[in-house]
Amino acid sequence: MKIITNSVEGIKEAAEILAGDGVVAFPTETVYGLGANAFSKEAVTKIYKIKGRPSFNPLIIHVDSYEMARQYGVFNKSANILAQKYWPGPLTIIVKKRESDVVVSATAKLETIALRCPSNIIARKLITELDKPIAAPSANKSGKLTCTSPRDVFAKLKNSIDAILDGGDAELGLESTVIDCSLERPSILRLGNITSEEINSCLDYSIAPSIKTEKQIKSPGQLLKHYSPEADLILNANRPRQGDIFLSFGPHPKEIDGLTLTESKNLVEAAKNLFTFLHKLDRLSKAKGGIPIKVAPIPTNGVGAAINDRLIRAAER
Ligand code: AMP
Ligand code: MG
Repeated sequence: MKIITNSVEGIKEAAEILAGDGVVAFPTETVYGLGANAFSKEAVTKIYKIKGRPSFNPLIIHVDSYEMARQYGVFNKSANILAQKYWPGPLTIIVKKRESDVVVSATAKLETIALRCPSNIIARKLITELDKPIAAPSANKSGKLTCTSPRDVFAKLKNSIDAILDGGDAELGLESTVIDCSLERPSILRLGNITSEEINSCLDYSIAPSIKTEKQIKSPGQLLKHYSPEADLILNANRPRQGDIFLSFGPHPKEIDGLTLTESKNLVEAAKNLFTFLHKLDRLSKAKGGIPIKVAPIPTNGVGAAINDRLIRAAER
């Protein structure tokens, strides 16, 4: 396992590893991705194995431009509007798949394909250097806490991947918003920094996020238990006691162990800190014999909806 610094040579080296069917964790503005050449069956198989990801859960195919995306998917009107407005950026768009060299296992043999053009410049340069799309789920074990820093990726995956391309902490900290545009009426399959209100403001019809129960899931990633820390999470905890581990929202109470997601109650800052802080508090919990992590109530407006979505799944046992 190698940590590659972010430079012209570093990006070249990471692209060479990908071209040789290796697996590289790389930065995006949302979270760290675990990248494979999307044309390589061998590399894509490695991704599923490393993550312990069920083969029915498709990967997001990362592209460096809208033009590249159009080679792999059919963009209808709503997909075009959204790509124009939010790409490059934290929005994954599911469209009908075109016949291409993207290996079928990467899209779990579906008729659709999930495409994203990240705004992180390192990610885009890596794709351009490889000159092929990169299939990348989040760089973590399936169902476990997402990694938003090279340190957390290293701690969780160092024994199973070829390299980490170091791009510092992820700017946003939550996975992309996923919108399914493959049907006439689009639906939101996962919440992220781009809110359902923002999406609705640029489409002809109003769509509510279809955050479904286990039995109704459309996207395999909608499983109720997801993003799990080792420690139990207790949500909407208002009054932490001495000895507790507390993840707060707003000023952190005196003499209580833990961290605040945001001193100033800024939801975007809270989103950015969510997963790194859960990793930190998970380590603290382990050191304290595995006690639960209490989490303060988080407002549900704006990106708060996505934060609450992650927390509810992370607390599920
Ligand atoms: P991650 O594994 O964190 O990168 O998340 C990718 C998400 O996109 C998961 O929830 C996948 O199930 C979902 N996804 C990818 N491709 C498709 C697709 N063609 N149809 C529905 N959901 C998809
Ligand atoms: Mg994930």
